[in-house]
Amino acid sequence: MPEEQGQQSTAADATQTLDAVVIGAGFGGMYALHSLRESGLSVRAYDAAGGVGGTWWWNRYPGARVDFPGGPFYCYTFSEELVQEWDWSETQPDQASVLAYLNYVADKFDLRRDIHLETRVTSAHYDQAAQRWAIETSAGEKINAQFLICALGTLSQTNMPDIAGFESFAGECYHTGHWPQEKVEFAGKRVGVIGTGSSGIQAIPVIAEEAAHLTVFQRTPQFTIPAGNRPLDPAFVSEARKNWATVRDQMMKSPLGAPYPAPKLSSRDHSAEQRRELYEKLWRKGGLSILFDSYSDILTNEEANAELAEFMRAKIRDLVDDPAVLEKLLPDYQVGTKRQVLDKGYYATYNRDNVTLVDLREDAIETITPTGIRTVAGEEHALDILIFATGYDAITGAFVGLNPRGRGGISLKDKWAERFSTYLGMTIPEFPNLFMIHGPESPSVLFNMPLGAELQSDWIRDCIHYLREQGQGVIEPTAAAEEAWGQEVAEIAGQTMFSADIDSWYSGANIPGKHRQFTVYLGGPNFYRRLDEVAEKNYEGFVLEKVY
Ligand code: NAP
Repeated sequence: MPEEQGQQSTAADATQTLDAVVIGAGFGGMYALHSLRESGLSVRAYDAAGGVGGTWWWNRYPGARVDFPGGPFYCYTFSEELVQEWDWSETQPDQASVLAYLNYVADKFDLRRDIHLETRVTSAHYDQAAQRWAIETSAGEKINAQFLICALGTLSQTNMPDIAGFESFAGECYHTGHWPQEKVEFAGKRVGVIGTGSSGIQAIPVIAEEAAHLTVFQRTPQFTIPAGNRPLDPAFVSEARKNWATVRDQMMKSPLGAPYPAPKLSSRDHSAEQRRELYEKLWRKGGLSILFDSYSDILTNEEANAELAEFMRAKIRDLVDDPAVLEKLLPDYQVGTKRQVLDKGYYATYNRDNVTLVDLREDAIETITPTGIRTVAGEEHALDILIFATGYDAITGAFVGLNPRGRGGISLKDKWAERFSTYLGMTIPEFPNLFMIHGPESPSVLFNMPLGAELQSDWIRDCIHYLREQGQGVIEPTAAAEEAWGQEVAEIAGQTMFSADIDSWYSGANIPGKHRQFTVYLGGPNFYRRLDEVAEKNYEGFVLEKVY
């Protein structure tokens, strides 16, 4: 039987009792709420944002759009009715379309009645005696829940670099991941953007069109590929809808969770001329295909990777007019080891008269001033608006930020001080009945995230019901299972170019002081087979405990 919603434990402390609290109301949290609630549990979700949508609520910066093989595949798959009735119009929907979709989902499945917005979970402690989570919110609520589901987002804890003089800036200042609700007016303004990752590269061409002047402060040049966004072909959509069960099945079997099979050929199966032809074709098509649908060994074979990188640098040379600017834009890392960026007209933006590129590797920022940015060489860049496109403390940052306390009061921050360790990327020893969606050591950012959130949420739901059927109340992974899982994650990554040493947020390299660890389980579909195996073996690797 579900705990009664909002039931008061005692009148004095006004603690509310629920089966589960979900933190986050993005793709992951919304579906977790739906899945658990439909299964008969009393559940409530909390989100600090003013609306549902998670990352799509916060990231309203100009140019924001999906860069995964998008509509109709970057969406929920659990409801065939939803798939049939929601019309995506582009292959890579923009932020407003994704947010509209998530609002539609919230209404269709009546999620809002159990979502508390503008409410941050301020603390979560495991009460060992009660075998329940004691949760407090910024609205002063106290909740006692058997299960805590953390759908905090992998890219939600923004990274604001510590640059001298920041407080003195007199103009407008924004972070792409915390963009205001109102439209920011760039017309007639001198705008500065720090950062050239996915967010900066999406925003820069759009801002350049409107601003009087745009100055881009670039630390590391990135490989970016034309996004190839286009209107969706109605015949394609209708075919996908007709065969939805097959399409979903293909998504669950493909490496990234999109309904495209993994490439069968290795780069060695083709001659240099054949490879060039294929790269040309995929470059013209745009999107992530050149990296993921060309050859199976792009991310495992250094030679193949170097050849593709050189092909991409040749494309950049064709696109940028000024040789000095071009030189600054040429990337020199192994393509794909930083999160691959897609763009619309990014390189051509540097041919505009109103755009300046500052290479921070040649001349670093010395200080932010009231009127702009001064570099070490003494260059003054006058700015009315300063935009930080400086990314996130990714994958682990939001969990450490929440810092739940487990058995004996151990904090997650302390537990993870030297290593981010989990079992299945979803559970943590000493943190009983806590589940993460898209946690470290899960496929998270390297698999279709809405689909992954569904699969993980359903696994959590089934686990909870298994527990109850067994007359048990607490589940916690063993330290041995945690250790073995860490080895499995590292072994799979070890077969690729991904490692703790890559200069990427994948490995924590972007956050000063963060320890480096590659925290993504590669090979998405295999992860979901592993979850099934664990369940089939009566939750192997876990210890169950009766409620006292
Ligand atoms: P990011 O990829 O981490 O890029 C941050 C940028 O800021 C980098 O160019 C970085 O330079 C620079 N930077 C950081 N600290 C700096 C400092 N102190 N001084 C100067 N430059 C600094 O962040 P992001 O662009 O927000 O993207 C994060 C992830 O979000 C993406 O990789 C992607 O997964 C996701 N995203 C997705 C979409 C989409 O699907 N459409 C759109 C946007 C973002 P270095 O490279 O030198 O560190």
